[in-house]
Amino acid sequence: MTELFVRSASLRNATLRALERRGVSLVEIAELTYFLQKDYVGGLTRELCLQNVEHVLAKREVQNAILTGIELDVLAESGRLSEPLQSMLRSDESLYGVDEVLALSILNIYGSIGYTNYGYIDKLKYGCLAGLNDKSTGRVHCFLDDLVGAVAAAAASRLAHRHRSEMETDLDDEE
Ligand code: MG
Repeated sequence: MTELFVRSASLRNATLRALERRGVSLVEIAELTYFLQKDYVGGLTRELCLQNVEHVLAKREVQNAILTGIELDVLAESGRLSEPLQSMLRSDESLYGVDEVLALSILNIYGSIGYTNYGYIDKLKYGCLAGLNDKSTGRVHCFLDDLVGAVAAAAASRLAHRHRSEMETDLDDEE
């Protein structure tokens, strides 16, 4: 019998493998999250950032976005897309914009603070985002740079929301 649904575990594994194959580690994504939140969350550790990145990556919407984007990057890298899409992805055409729209499907999950963080880190090209934006390598990361920035920003939002709830609980306890 044909299986009509993809199992969560296989989707999760495929996502982690795809990121790894494209040279992005979860530790690097967590580093972006740390950079975004270190001034706002007292005592923040890289380990806590990593845990939040893992939570974001456990969501099916996020896995779907990552697998779709990476697949298109890989196809463009090996010249297997039709024109004009092939050229737009290979040159990372600035008016293409679908890479950013796909990244929004990740940011949507954690609310508006994610958009600010994403915009900020995308502009700075901090950490591993610099390498993903290096056009001289011959690699195509049209989608991956936005997806990685969005996962880091979503993890930062998750952290910020949880930090706020913890602070409010502490205040309630004092009252
Ligand atoms: Mg892009």
